Amino acid sequence: MNLKNLEKRLTYLAANAIRDYRMIEDGDRIMVCLSGGKDSYGLLEVLRLLQARAPVRFELIAVNLDQKQPGWPEHVLPEYLDNLGVSFRILEQDTYSVVKRVLPEGKTMCSLCSRLRRGALYSAAAEMGVTKIALGHHRDDLIETLFLNMFYSAKLGTMPPKLRSKDGRHVVIRPLAYVPEKYLQRYADLREFPIIPCNLCGSQANLKRAEIKRMIQAWDAEDPKRLNMILRSMQNVRLSHLADTDQFDFESLRGKVASDMPDPVTGEQDPFVGLVKPLEEEPAL
Ligand code: SF4
Repeated sequence: MNLKNLEKRLTYLAANAIRDYRMIEDGDRIMVCLSGGKDSYGLLEVLRLLQARAPVRFELIAVNLDQKQPGWPEHVLPEYLDNLGVSFRILEQDTYSVVKRVLPEGKTMCSLCSRLRRGALYSAAAEMGVTKIALGHHRDDLIETLFLNMFYSAKLGTMPPKLRSKDGRHVVIRPLAYVPEKYLQRYADLREFPIIPCNLCGSQANLKRAEIKRMIQAWDAEDPKRLNMILRSMQNVRLSHLADTDQFDFESLRGKVASDMPDPVTGEQDPFVGLVKPLEEEPAL
């Protein structure tokens, strides 16, 4: 795909996600989180392209958090953003030292590092009076997170295209939620973005995420439709066809006749009372 067609595809997918989740409204002041990675450069460009032609008016402010990693090239992003003529702000907070101090040597630092980064960005968002915070997560991030949660946390959930932050103060949007990662990689190559690698900190890669990434890349190679089917399945949830008793009232589904009949021996209304035990780990055969 050449640059023109790729930009068309990227803006089409982002515009669809923005419309489906009503991510952007007239008068929004959007903080675009820019890490220096391919996804965040792609996000900023796509939002700029949409800004130029969208029927609603919204403002973009690029924000980068300088986490004081050794070797961080602090001139790269300001120069890039100055050239584009985009409003921006560089925040400085030495989260690198905090992570190094708190975590034992050799431990993967990304989870704590991301939490600290999110806290710093949210505080800045409140101070700057922005209405939305845009993050560069893409379709494959959503799918990886879905399987990470299933495989390692026994829960069904991902990073949603739009959410309210836990403290209730911010609305976070992910306009690239429908965009395959390979498009963003190709876009970054064609546009020659000045990529700053995330692992300047020397952190080990998250092995579990890397394993899931390999798995979904293999699926994509085998059947290019599969990842979009997984994405669409996240948008087509049947709570009554899953098994979460907190999300669906299975208990009130009662056979009219059976539920009205008392147990013939005990006289109890529900013959399973007292027999139900918590589900334990499956015994080995
Ligand atoms: S690679 Fe380093 S900078 Fe990037 S998220 Fe992980 S710990 Fe943070």
